[in-house]
Amino acid sequence: MTFHFRLLVISICVFVAGCGSSETDSDVVNKMVYVDTETMAAIVLPVYESLPATNSETGERTLMPGLYCPECRTWYPVPAPDQINRRPDAALCPKTRTPLIADGPWPDEDSESTEGVP
Ligand SMILES: [Zn+2]
Repeated sequence: MTFHFRLLVISICVFVAGCGSSETDSDVVNKMVYVDTETMAAIVLPVYESLPATNSETGERTLMPGLYCPECRTWYPVPAPDQINRRPDAALCPKTRTPLIADGPWPDEDSESTEGVP
C-alpha cells in the first residue's frame, strides 16, 4: 500500500517536472501580439527580444508590442516594456484614454475559441 502510494507520488512529480522543461522549447512557443506601426495590422508572433521586430511580410522593422483597447476593440502599438514603465500614459489608448490590456482577443489565433465575438 504505502510503497505504491509513494511510487505514484514520485511518478506524478517526474511527469510534472518533465512537462515543464522538455515541451517548452518545441511545443509551446512564447507568443504575443505585435502591431505594425505602418499598417496598424495586429499579428501574433513568437516573442522577440529586440524591438522593433521585423514584419516577415514587408521585411521592415515596424513591429511593436501590441496592447488591446477593450473600448475600441483595437490593438495599438506600444513602446518597449521598459519604456512603458517610465511612461504610464504609454499604456493608454491614444483615442479613448482607456487603459490598454495585454489579453485581448488575439488576431489569427485559433478561430474556434472566439468567445464573446459575434
Ligand atoms: Zn480606445
